[in-house]
Amino acid sequence: MVEEFAFDNTEERRKIRQNGENGWIEVIVGSMFSGKSEELIRRLRRAQIARQKVQVFKPKIDDRYSIEQIASHSGMTHVSKPVMTAAEMMAQMEPDTQIVGIDEGQFFDMAIIEAVNELANSGKRVIIAGLDQDYLGRPFEPMPQLLAVAEFITKTHAICVKCGNTANYSQRTSDSKERVEVGAHDKYEARCRKCFVPHADAPTII
Ligand code: ADP
Ligand code: ZN
Repeated sequence: MVEEFAFDNTEERRKIRQNGENGWIEVIVGSMFSGKSEELIRRLRRAQIARQKVQVFKPKIDDRYSIEQIASHSGMTHVSKPVMTAAEMMAQMEPDTQIVGIDEGQFFDMAIIEAVNELANSGKRVIIAGLDQDYLGRPFEPMPQLLAVAEFITKTHAICVKCGNTANYSQRTSDSKERVEVGAHDKYEARCRKCFVPHADAPTII
């Protein structure tokens, strides 16, 4: 039986504070296919409806989809700037930007922690999505550190393709032993704790 997790009500609380001078950090984490990008894009669209100035970034390493966009596996997209490093992101930051969106946070260097703190300290709302675990189930830096400094945390879950339970792991179905191996359904599938096999496993036949 799959339990459906409702998102917490922090967005309502955030809305109350949004008119003030305060900045803060929101982190969205989960396995692949859990809806992190969808949730990030949903929040960015709402910010734009509220006529706030939004800038979106993603690390250049992720070339799955078109370069100038972040994209969800379900086809939602949002324009974004590809950058190599946190320093490059900061160099492109415009002072009147109110909302900073970042996808694939796990591919950033550790300087991203200081960078998002600096942005929040200067009054910006930072929303950063990323994988919390790698293909072996190890915490995927810098996401654990970002979770520690964030005011608001959302954990998203996928559906285990083997058994239908709540999935918390990204199962690699290719042989690579590289920590960073960019792919989607061709190389990964969502699995629950019971069905997850560290290292590679054969793809599930649906
Ligand atoms: P993430 O950014 O966490 O990888 P996305 O936001 O890109 O996730 O994609 C989420 C979408 O992926 C879901 O809304 C659904 O349409 C699709 N999807 C594909 N496989 C699965 C799965 N096993 N569990 C849940 N959603 C899945
Ligand atoms: Zn399972």
